[in-house]
Amino acid sequence: MNAPLTAAPDTASRDRLGRPLRDLRISITDRCNFRCVYCMPKETFGKDYQFLERSALLSFEEITRVAQLFTRLGVEKIRITGGEPLVRRNVEKLIEQLAAIPGLDLTLTTNGSLLAKKAQALRAAGLKRITVSLDSLDDAVFKAMNDVDFPVAKVIEGIDAAAAAGLAPVKINMVVKRGLNEHSILPMARFFRERGHILRFIEYMDVGASNGWRMDDVVSAREIVDTISREMPLEPADANYTGEVAERWRYKDGRGEIGVIASVTQAFCRDCTRARISTEGQLYTCLFATSGHDLRGLIRGGASDDEIIARIGSVWSAREDRYSEIRGKNTIPLKKIEMSYIGG
Ligand code: SAM
Ligand code: SF4
Ligand code: SF4
Repeated sequence: MNAPLTAAPDTASRDRLGRPLRDLRISITDRCNFRCVYCMPKETFGKDYQFLERSALLSFEEITRVAQLFTRLGVEKIRITGGEPLVRRNVEKLIEQLAAIPGLDLTLTTNGSLLAKKAQALRAAGLKRITVSLDSLDDAVFKAMNDVDFPVAKVIEGIDAAAAAGLAPVKINMVVKRGLNEHSILPMARFFRERGHILRFIEYMDVGASNGWRMDDVVSAREIVDTISREMPLEPADANYTGEVAERWRYKDGRGEIGVIASVTQAFCRDCTRARISTEGQLYTCLFATSGHDLRGLIRGGASDDEIIARIGSVWSAREDRYSEIRGKNTIPLKKIEMSYIGG
């Protein structure tokens, strides 16, 4: 359990397309206090929706054990996500356990609604940086998107609290959906450039089976960059590392940068080094996978660390996912997993 952070020989953790296992996203709850129209639309996630029982969720100890084992296979970065991770009770306890894993780059994605209350505790638990999702500065637009009448001001309060607590950098994620919030692109860019936070625009994706995705609703990364560049000229910046999801652009006047995540129009599967663990401990090798591999059963069945590592290693070495590259080529899986379950 407490083995040091030493990656297994590189060849041991490469998939069929030669991609190493470097990043892990862990969904710690399938619940959320928002009903974003592109993620958990009310028509599907209504009052009667059956979320997972508590006993089905991986416990903090189970999550920490799995995280440690993944680091032994080469994982360097873990993102905690959901659902909304901050609605899971005592989440800071989990952060404390994960932050104790040597050499691990740990981060978390949140809708920001509870951040004003939790930022200090998360920082004290050892979290160093954070990503906050916010789709507009216009209250009417944001409320139409989160669909629970949640005001922008409270998310901004959370972002400020995170910065004040020393979580740095604070990155902001904005999903752009045509007809809903493309007019918010420029105000968001201006605002976060002033504040010194990195804003990342995400193309609206066809995750899950409930958001009614259509290609026409996607505002392309190209269009987003052009929109901003007309007012505040941008130039491409080098990636920080291979496999970075966001393409970086910096303002030509030297005052900050943005990112664009072009998962639809410029698929980046060939550099995809990410695995995901669902709320109930299923391992997925792609955001668009239709089935997972049961790690919880192994853990609760008493498997040893080596047995679990061997299982993860064999799943990874058989991996050949590249959904975004082949999207639209008549190979779309019929039963995709919802993002709130698999972890965004
Ligand atoms: N609840 C947290 C939040 O909203 O930040 C974490 C989970 S959420 C599923 C993770 C990220 O996925 C968010 O930034 C969200 O905007 C993004 N997301 C959700 N559905 C999406 C979609 N259909 N297309 C693109 N991004 C999406
Ligand atoms: Fe909740 Fe995040 Fe999905 Fe919005 S994007 S419904 S905040 S999980
Ligand atoms: Fe990775 Fe799958 Fe997304 Fe491609 S579609 S970048 S393989 S998660």
